[in-house]
Amino acid sequence: MTAKIIDGTAVAEQIRAEVGAAVAKRIEAGLSKPGLATVLVGENPASQVYVRSKHKACGEVGIESFGFQLPASASQGEVEELVKQLNADPKVNGILVQLPLPAGLDEERVLNAISIEKDVDGFHPLNIGRLAQKGRDPLFIPCTPAGTMYLLENNVDKIEGLNAVVLGRSNIVGMPVALLLVRANATVTICHSRTQNLPDVVRSADILVAAIGKPEMVRGDWVKPGAVVIDVGVNRVEDQTRPKGYRLTGDVAFDEAKEVAGAITPVPGGVGPMTIAMLLKNTLRAAILSDK
Ligand code: NDP
Repeated sequence: MTAKIIDGTAVAEQIRAEVGAAVAKRIEAGLSKPGLATVLVGENPASQVYVRSKHKACGEVGIESFGFQLPASASQGEVEELVKQLNADPKVNGILVQLPLPAGLDEERVLNAISIEKDVDGFHPLNIGRLAQKGRDPLFIPCTPAGTMYLLENNVDKIEGLNAVVLGRSNIVGMPVALLLVRANATVTICHSRTQNLPDVVRSADILVAAIGKPEMVRGDWVKPGAVVIDVGVNRVEDQTRPKGYRLTGDVAFDEAKEVAGAITPVPGGVGPMTIAMLLKNTLRAAILSDK
């Protein structure tokens, strides 16, 4: 069996086009242009790349973006003050504080300072708390987990009742993905670094989401035949045949797993492009919420 390869780039492109069309319609109707503010503290090169690509993506769909940069030496008070100013700025519909913050800053306090109506990254404790509670709905769902679910909903006939295994329990990926799968009525097992007999647990998965940051750890013979595999991992592995001296790989041994799975995301080109598409979608939603 050779799996269907889920083309996240194409799906993300379609979502971006939909957001672009909705933004154009808003402007035509005399409504405001959605605005996203990014806050980058310090000079983490990976964070700089992510923030730049978010601004570029905003520009392509007609969302206005405002970049704010603070030095790594910024105090907790300075970061929170900036967030408060952005909360009060009507041109800013969404606020994204790029994580991780430099050591010494209290991430939870900064996230808590973001107005929940502008929490387009979905990491405000109130939004995450609502995600975990029955009968409550978060205003925004974190972007990578939302992108993961979007791909699942479009590639699984019926999630309800299936066994889903989530590898990883981080605040930004594993845990929110697991909560979303519970909301979709899957039976969810969350695995982490202390899980025993991981291959056996993974073999029970109709749906497998891997978010551990370990290159190709999940082997083909761990995968249940026909399972839908979403590989969130993005890992750099040395490869001198590539111009940059490395290549990107996921947490799943793709060439092995694609022979067993029913559908699988590649890395790159799977979940990665979905993250920014979902951020654009969330920013548009924030603008719509602010109309009311
Ligand atoms: P974290 O390092 O925060 O979390 C990793 C999780 O994996 C932890 O829960 C950890 O367990 C678990 N884990 C680590 N080693 C093992 C192991 N050997 N067996 C089982 N579980 C293990 O990572 P993130 O959640 O931030 O990211 C995960 C991956 O997703 C990374 O490759 C990252 O680059 C990628 N990513 C991709 C994004 C995208 O847009 N595509 C966005 C965000 C992340 P424990 O809790 O016990 O420590």
